[in-house]
Amino acid sequence: MKPPVNFCQVCGHAMIDQWTFGKQRRICPACGFVHFEDPKVAAVTLVEDQRRILLVRRRMNPGRGLWSLPGGFVDYGEDPREAAVREVLEETGLIVQLTGLIDILGGAQQTGNATIVITYSATVVSGAAAPQDDTDAILWYSAVDSLPDLAFESTHALLTRWIEDQRHST
Ligand SMILES: [Zn+2]
Repeated sequence: MKPPVNFCQVCGHAMIDQWTFGKQRRICPACGFVHFEDPKVAAVTLVEDQRRILLVRRRMNPGRGLWSLPGGFVDYGEDPREAAVREVLEETGLIVQLTGLIDILGGAQQTGNATIVITYSATVVSGAAAPQDDTDAILWYSAVDSLPDLAFESTHALLTRWIEDQRHST
């Protein structure tokens, strides 16, 4: 759970709970400011090369020491496609080109701190993958390998689906 919003970010008055715009929200009785609890959006990428998928080991929580797809939060005003490409570059040094949209997963808990996860597919344009930034190891995962310990249920769901696709395409 997120901590409650106690004070108005516009005028500094104490916030109260009030039913508005279809649900209970924090509002400011002094200036009328409504605090909307916005979703956190992450963009992640299935980078595929020679029938292998690029995984990164996380140096930070949530999921420190566990494996996930390269990805991270979409900045305010940023195109999620640009965020996906940027995160792969920051975490692995690879320049990739997106090739499609795989899925948009939502809901709480399964995805770390994000409530919406947008997943793209991509191919490598240039570079050699090496761990950088908040990643301390990389792995090219093949469908015949056993899965490493994964950080998020969303990663597990996406990889399981990819593995199934590999079996059907052989
Ligand atoms: Zn206010």
